[in-house]
Amino acid sequence: MSTLPNVVIVMGRCSKTHRSYGMRFEEKEPGYWLLDWAFAMKEDASRKEGYDQSTIAGGFGLAPEYPGCPHCGAGSLVKCACGKVGCWDQESTTFTCPWCHSTGRISGTIDSLSAGGDR
Ligand SMILES: [Zn+2]
Ligand SMILES: [Zn+2]
Repeated sequence: MSTLPNVVIVMGRCSKTHRSYGMRFEEKEPGYWLLDWAFAMKEDASRKEGYDQSTIAGGFGLAPEYPGCPHCGAGSLVKCACGKVGCWDQESTTFTCPWCHSTGRISGTIDSLSAGGDR
């Protein structure tokens, strides 16, 4: 029986530099995921780890200790209609997706993310 917290890594890209990074989410309550860490990571490494394989769903929150995007320091994130995630500085009202390059207004909340398991 494992008492370890349920932790997943979600891949994102920096909206400013277009470099990839991994975000660590911990399931604090069933269906509630807290983002508490981010680290620079190459996309080929993330594919090898299977971080793009599964999906987590529910509510999402930012931990007070979340250090922000490892490339530009942006403190939050946006999920594009294409399903990918990019960093967000919490001030811009529009978002240009670093994955598919479409631009849109920021609205709503994130309710699911592609994620893979952590060890
Ligand atoms: Zn960034
Ligand atoms: Zn997109």
